[in-house]
Amino acid sequence: MGYNQKMYGLGSKRSIIREIFEYSKSRASEIGAENVYDFSLGNPSVPAPAEVNQTIQELLNTQSSVLLHGYTSAQGDAGVRGIIADSINKKFGVGISPNLIYMTCGAAASLSICLKAVIEENSNDECIVFAPFFTEYRVFIENAGGKIVVSKPMEKTFQIDIADFESKINASTKAVIVNSPNNPSGVVYSEDTIKALCEVLNKKSVEHGHAIYLIADEPYRELVYSGVTVPYLMNYYDNTLVCYSYSKSLSLPGERIGYIAVSPKMEDCQSIYLTVCGAGRSLGYVCAPSLFQQVIARCIDAKVNVEAYKENRDILYENLTAYGYECVKPDGAFYLFVKALENDAYKFFEKAKAHEILVVPCDDFGVEGYVRIAYCTDKARVEGALPAFKALAKEYGL
Ligand code: PLP
Repeated sequence: MGYNQKMYGLGSKRSIIREIFEYSKSRASEIGAENVYDFSLGNPSVPAPAEVNQTIQELLNTQSSVLLHGYTSAQGDAGVRGIIADSINKKFGVGISPNLIYMTCGAAASLSICLKAVIEENSNDECIVFAPFFTEYRVFIENAGGKIVVSKPMEKTFQIDIADFESKINASTKAVIVNSPNNPSGVVYSEDTIKALCEVLNKKSVEHGHAIYLIADEPYRELVYSGVTVPYLMNYYDNTLVCYSYSKSLSLPGERIGYIAVSPKMEDCQSIYLTVCGAGRSLGYVCAPSLFQQVIARCIDAKVNVEAYKENRDILYENLTAYGYECVKPDGAFYLFVKALENDAYKFFEKAKAHEILVVPCDDFGVEGYVRIAYCTDKARVEGALPAFKALAKEYGL
């Protein structure tokens, strides 16, 4: 056939999350949206901060069309990158310059660009991910020409299993993706875990005689509860690229805005940065949205109401565990990773569906027998779903 069958496969086979989302819409038209407990999609329910919306209006009223709607430099507006660099330095003290910041269309673009930058063409380069992992990693890694290698987690805590990780590294290992707070587990990797991971990376880079790049996927960095801190990976490992996004931190997923930060401690950091620029160019990312670059520059310290997510987490965690469900208490993001009440997560998903509960079976996330509950939704839906969760547990004899 005269076209790319791999791309046809990606386009024609909807992800399970999208599949459930479509089902949810049709079910809502039958029985009313308030009767469908849809916890499938990670679309932020907390609105963007008021100052973001005010800033957009002010910008539209006061700034030139060229500034707001024109092209920017490929790597992003220099002033905007300066403000982001200052903010990173203030928070994490890494001494990054604006010339190591590259504005992107969100974390998905940041990841695709970083992977394209570090994975070499016609190589056997491998990229390690930690289960459970965001399913699109597979797509991005393979599209960059790499091979995905999955490292299994520690049982129950879902922290990284360092011994397993070490055993997965070989001469072809080029990159490692760390996502904390994690989608789908909500787990924040502890500082001890990060230190152990970086120790292994340093040792193995020397052993294999080349850099192994650490790609920090951080769209959920700001969504943490009860004072938990998320280690900033540049402070632990020199060959780090941070993929940041405002999709969740400012509830702007449809605006497609984020950045890549290349660690100034990386040997050849300017060459790696230029490689990132080249990768962005090759993927057709002409520049990140101009209007939202300007919005970010003016709202750099804005925050969404994380308490609303915490409230949902507490309600779900406390009630579900009381009904007999098993799950790790998430410290961040807006996901609860729940052990299915039978081995087959798909069968459990079907039974939950009969109670109008829509959750995501997580086999594709690299861990079998679990489902993900995305609680970025109204508190009323969370509370409304409790009797259905209870009835479902009862059906399993709990
Ligand atoms: N990485 C993870 C772990 C995610 O959960 C998501 C989106 O849900 C992304 C990356 C992509 O985020 P963005 O909307 O910034 O492209």
